Amino acid sequence: MKNVTVFCASSPKVKQAYLAEATSLAEELVKANYRIVYGGGAVGLMGNLANRALELNGQVRGIIPHFMVEVEWEHKGVSDMVHVDDMAERKRLLVKDSDAIVVLAGGIGTLEELFEVLSLKKLGQITQPIILVNTGGFFDPLIKMLEKLVDEQFMRVEHNALWHVVESSQQVCQAIEELPAWHNNAIEIAAVK
Ligand code: AMP
Repeated sequence: MKNVTVFCASSPKVKQAYLAEATSLAEELVKANYRIVYGGGAVGLMGNLANRALELNGQVRGIIPHFMVEVEWEHKGVSDMVHVDDMAERKRLLVKDSDAIVVLAGGIGTLEELFEVLSLKKLGQITQPIILVNTGGFFDPLIKMLEKLVDEQFMRVEHNALWHVVESSQQVCQAIEELPAWHNNAIEIAAVK
């Protein structure tokens, strides 16, 4: 079974459209028989994602640090829950053995996770697709910033292909199947010359 890592918001107070995107992503990933690997939270987009996948008898793996379990942030319905010592180990396991990374709307936790994987991919340490689901244009300012990094030569033009943007969850599985593989020799094009 292939694993799709999902990064998304913990906030339950965001617009309904963002929460609904997590529900429909769960439907798409379960239908395509992917295991969902996520941060293990019970609320916000994370909660919607896990709840809907479990309702559909999909495979869900959570990876959560002990300190979040202590404050009861862990999703109690996810039986495949991996407890780790810290955030660094969590991020390592979220990405290990993952066939694709999907990013939904989120706060600084989600953005931090996104920037870590973009940076790892640029350096050739990971190669899987990174797909941003641009619900209602949520990521537009961030995409502009990433493009500015290329335009102003903080990265090379090839690095525009580190990420891929889709408009809705319905386009995610097709993107996972069709995106070309990232360069095996990414480290050789990592530096701007
Ligand atoms: P954010 O995008 O800031 O909502 O953060 C999402 C990520 O932050 C998750 O992967 C977790 O690392 C962490 N996080 C922040 N708040 C929570 C919460 N209430 N429950 C679970 N995880 C959370």
